[in-house]
Amino acid sequence: MEKRPDTLPKHGFIDRDRLMSYAEASAPGEAELDAILAHALELHGLGIEEVARLIRVSDSGQRARILDAAMQVKEAIYGRRMVFFAPLYIGNTCSNNCLYCGFRRDNKDLVRAVLGKAEIEAETRTLLKEGHKRLLMLSGESATTPLDYFLDAIDTVYAVREGQDHVRRINVEIAPLSVADFARLKATNIGTYVCFQETYDQELYAVYHPSGPKRDYLNRLYVMDRAMEGGIEDVGIGALFGLGDWRFEVLSMFEHARHLEETFGCGPHTVSVPRLQPAPGSAIANHVPSPLSDEDFMLLVATIRIAMPYTGIILSTRESEDMRNALFRYGVSQISAGSRTNPGAYAQEAEKKSGESGSQFALGDHRDLDEVVSSLIDSGHVPSFCTGCYRKGRVGQDFMDLAKPGLIKEFCLPNGLFTFQEYLLDHASTSTRAKGQVLLDRLASEIERPEVRERAQTALAEIKAGGRDIYF
Ligand code: SF4
Repeated sequence: MEKRPDTLPKHGFIDRDRLMSYAEASAPGEAELDAILAHALELHGLGIEEVARLIRVSDSGQRARILDAAMQVKEAIYGRRMVFFAPLYIGNTCSNNCLYCGFRRDNKDLVRAVLGKAEIEAETRTLLKEGHKRLLMLSGESATTPLDYFLDAIDTVYAVREGQDHVRRINVEIAPLSVADFARLKATNIGTYVCFQETYDQELYAVYHPSGPKRDYLNRLYVMDRAMEGGIEDVGIGALFGLGDWRFEVLSMFEHARHLEETFGCGPHTVSVPRLQPAPGSAIANHVPSPLSDEDFMLLVATIRIAMPYTGIILSTRESEDMRNALFRYGVSQISAGSRTNPGAYAQEAEKKSGESGSQFALGDHRDLDEVVSSLIDSGHVPSFCTGCYRKGRVGQDFMDLAKPGLIKEFCLPNGLFTFQEYLLDHASTSTRAKGQVLLDRLASEIERPEVRERAQTALAEIKAGGRDIYF
């Protein structure tokens, strides 16, 4: 049955006092840290008390040990893969007034746009030409971008063909829907539904969301319940770090994951960790209320990695190149690259017409996709555009069951290599292609199980001969 805010406990499943008391836990001593990290390396995740102790650590030696454990967990489960996606903003009109956002209704300086079919096709073509295969489609919450418009836009994007290329997975980030509307969204063949709580602190939430439908804290808190009831297996949660106490937000995200696991038998597919960045027309974004230092941010990512080892961690281009490179090591598994947050910007920039006048927030990493791929190759990572699990139906709990170290490597590494090979052949610059091919050939030859290695070599030869979209 659909959960309505008036039938819910006042604070939903977020018990602020209890979480605040955890947030005030003390840092562990050496012996206790040993025990927590040994537990983490068993790859079954951590309990909330352990998470609370880890995020209190300030000693640099202890922090280094947590980061090292996160690297080991990431390597064991994800190997060297890094999955790419591109955000596709199709409208920046919004009836909400979120104080940290450039799209907010009262920002009169923003150039507003709602893309038509031809513009959405042009954006999709530009992204396909760059090499993207996975998109995250977004819009503000507005009567000018109703659900029907959004569903048509999804069909439009999936229908675009650019040579042999087409978009293989669309994840969606739009305002909360009802169960019935989530079922309609699911029917358009989307991947993950993403929605951030922004802050789980109910009092601060009211301050930062002064008007508009988003003001309803509980409606948003239970959005993933409705999404899952509507048939969407993969959901992505997140908080906007910088609005409230970061330790409270981490514990709340953990609590959110536990709630979904308990209710639906499956936790979130991804968590996102955006840090508040300057946004045109937002005083709050330019004077972050609860800033999070780079060191704390690394600890946060590392703690999530070892606490929820099978949940993907998503990092956007809000962060600088240096910060992103560090976080790749400590747990991030999915990244955007070459992003634009103003509707229409990809195609316009391809024609050299656009600035950032309609964007949601300022970007920290301005490199294009090829530059990011090139730097990942230098650090020995495998750039992946894979959509295999989703298209083979390995989603939700099935994915979690599969997500054991050996199995992920068996499917995900070869599939990642196939999409890497496609990228090198179809989209990479000459220098990226040359060094990428060396890395790819080495990794393919190092696949442990002989039968998997043989199948992978056969598939890679097929791709070199012109085959595309091959996956296990
Ligand atoms: S955060 Fe989302 S809902 Fe809030 S103003 Fe921006 S686009 Fe609108």
